[in-house]
Amino acid sequence: MKIIMVKLLSIIDPYKMAVKQLRNAVELLGYDKSVFEILSKPQRVLEVNIPVRMDDGSVIVFTGYRVQHNNALGPYKGGVRYHPNVTRNEVIALSMWMTWKCSVTGLPYGGGKGGVIVDPRRLSIRELEELSRGYIRAIAPIIGPEKDIPAPDVYTDPQIMAWFMDEFSKLKGYNVPAVVTAKPEELWGSKGRIYSTGLGVAIIAREAARKIGIDISNARVVVQGYGNVGFFTAKFLHDVGAKIIAVSDSKGGVYDPKGLDPEKVMEFKRKTGSVIKYPGASTITNEEILLLETDILVPAAIEGVITLDNAASIKAKIIVEGANGPTTPEADKILFKKGVKVVPDILANAGGVIVSYFEWVQNLQGHVWSEEEVKERLERHIEHAFHRVWLKAERDSIDLRTAAYLVAVERVVKAMKLRGWI
Ligand code: GLU
Repeated sequence: MKIIMVKLLSIIDPYKMAVKQLRNAVELLGYDKSVFEILSKPQRVLEVNIPVRMDDGSVIVFTGYRVQHNNALGPYKGGVRYHPNVTRNEVIALSMWMTWKCSVTGLPYGGGKGGVIVDPRRLSIRELEELSRGYIRAIAPIIGPEKDIPAPDVYTDPQIMAWFMDEFSKLKGYNVPAVVTAKPEELWGSKGRIYSTGLGVAIIAREAARKIGIDISNARVVVQGYGNVGFFTAKFLHDVGAKIIAVSDSKGGVYDPKGLDPEKVMEFKRKTGSVIKYPGASTITNEEILLLETDILVPAAIEGVITLDNAASIKAKIIVEGANGPTTPEADKILFKKGVKVVPDILANAGGVIVSYFEWVQNLQGHVWSEEEVKERLERHIEHAFHRVWLKAERDSIDLRTAAYLVAVERVVKAMKLRGWI
């Protein structure tokens, strides 16, 4: 297992994937090479080194990044990831994907992303707080409600957003709620933000299933990754009757063809630290889970899990990308030929950033929306984006990722042209 992971990491460079996807879109749109030159590079990369006094008295310096890819459509927007495998190139790729995500969903934002090289599961709460405050102080000169608005990503959560907001507010001398989104509800966070990415994935799964004649209330679903996105996706699909036949986390997975109860699995994970050994289910590896016979497969963990090596063996009819970048461009080609519908990350997991946008709007206006209003608006917003992309894919006989890229890149390029950048 370890050897396989090392092999995957060394082969799959998310930045190379992002550049390939962009090149494909720019060529199909018939744009000049200069458009590709501009968009294939981020506007700004900030590297920071954050000293943290550990509980044992030693000091560890953590390296982090904030990457601002493009702000033609509005302030940079995107999460901050805490993960031991974070690299500069990964954060650049993730920031580029945020540009397309915000564009394809019609948000008034550009794309950005942050990352810190750390395994937060090995830090105490105090160490985590010191790191989070240090990170935000280090990137404070380039963020702000009109500049760049961070949010959570892998292994970051509303508590960390609260520290971000508090530290930034202290620097300014007044409260600045709109500098960060996905804050706790007690601190200007939007209702529904905590589950919005998963709800969005579930809505997209339902719509995609309907398009190909599968009734979601009878569908079998496999979810790889059981963090915020994986869990809420499973929960919302289970709520409408879908059968969650397998789920996994970084330690491995569980499979039960009769269907799992997502809440009970989560309770078990909270107690034991993992979904593995969940009573009554059989164990399955993170590689095997992707190859199960299912209607819907939701990769909701990390990048580069569906590749040239396993794409041909995938048996799902629909893949809904809860994670960012789970499918490589080579795998995309194979899946398209096989007739598997792949709803790309920039559309499928946009529910999070859409509700982040709602939170920012509420913060700027001093309004508080009801949970019903947030849910209704999210549903309308993401469905609209989905149908637009689906129609384009049908009309042009292209895969859904290419269709989403054509819509997204065209909007950014139009804005850049109008602004006189190109
Ligand atoms: N990290 C999430 C994403 O990849 C959310 C970003 C946000 O809410 O700004 O879309």
